[in-house]
Amino acid sequence: MARIMLDHIRHAYSEKARAANEYALKEVHHEWEDGGAYALLGPSGCGKTTLLNIISGLIRPSEGRIFFDGTDATDLATEDRNIAQVFQFPVVYDTMTVRDNLAFPLRNRNVPERDVERRVNEILEMTGLGEVAGRLARGLTADQKQKISLARGLVRSDVSAILFDEPLTVIDPHMKWVLRSQLKRLHRQSGFTMVYVTHDQTEALTFADKVVVMYDGQIVQIGTPAELFERPSHTFVGYFIGSPGMNVMPVTVEGATARIGDMAVPLAGAPKLTGSGSVELGIRPEFVKLERGGLPVSIEKVEDIGRQKIVRARFAGQRIAIVVPEDDEIPAEAGIRLDPSAIGIFADSWRVKMEA
Ligand code: ATP
Repeated sequence: MARIMLDHIRHAYSEKARAANEYALKEVHHEWEDGGAYALLGPSGCGKTTLLNIISGLIRPSEGRIFFDGTDATDLATEDRNIAQVFQFPVVYDTMTVRDNLAFPLRNRNVPERDVERRVNEILEMTGLGEVAGRLARGLTADQKQKISLARGLVRSDVSAILFDEPLTVIDPHMKWVLRSQLKRLHRQSGFTMVYVTHDQTEALTFADKVVVMYDGQIVQIGTPAELFERPSHTFVGYFIGSPGMNVMPVTVEGATARIGDMAVPLAGAPKLTGSGSVELGIRPEFVKLERGGLPVSIEKVEDIGRQKIVRARFAGQRIAIVVPEDDEIPAEAGIRLDPSAIGIFADSWRVKMEA
């Protein structure tokens, strides 16, 4: 297991792109703790796979260095980095038994046969593949084959890290849930440093202790699921995490008051604004309260989503979503209150500090 340091890493896929400052990965400077379970979350094209391939050595970064436990690994080939990688689609040897598929990476490294057997049995049990251990991989379902890929990723005990690139894409929804929970348990049992790439927030939030949110070639926030929910550092995090995402509205700010159109919204403090860029107010739909006598809104639609309702409304000309418990009455003359402690002010999309 290893601590992985990405030291001012940037990557452009061509010299031309580099000259034009069009980096697929803008700048990543971050340390992945030994034994951590990280999810790399972001939309298609934001640079997740590029970053994962830089860690595994499939790509050499245009700039910056990568260290494993303090040792510079930037010029090390993939096979010398001791990294296990699990891809989107199963990589299995069809003509081998499940047991031999798992034993293969160990035998390849001349691990004594007695140790191979012990370790393979351990992983077969952990992954629930024991029952099919003697069967050829060829006859198994896509789910089972992907489980073999996952198990192969876990079988070596000497790896620095295990990297998963959207490993549950081919798995059916119920099995996805089962495998995700198993992976979380496996992480606790094994203590491996794990990096799990996904564009699915549920996958990221259930698997990881720390979620690394990427947007447009950069990391915009690293935090626990609760931190990302409660204090998004960037409007993208607010929008991408949560369902529905955070409400974001353009505002002007005077001291500890935000103005949206002709509405005045009290803030918990005065935001420390410096530049002249765009200023926005962000608040999650869960912290907007419908109440009589509040700031006036016009309700456009109410969606029932089981235990809650999502009220879609207009507030000072802006769209706003409000989450209310399913049993709550929706008043005809509705008003809203925005919980000041749950409001974030964002300048050029980044959260600004508030003066107490
Ligand atoms: P996805 O979820 O779709 O796999 P991603 O977040 O993993 O997306 P990357 O595959 O890392 O994103 O791509 C980041 C950017 O780099 C994208 O704009 C992509 O078009 C570009 N890119 C990726 N691979 C190459 C390549 N081999 N040559 C040129 N550009 C590339």
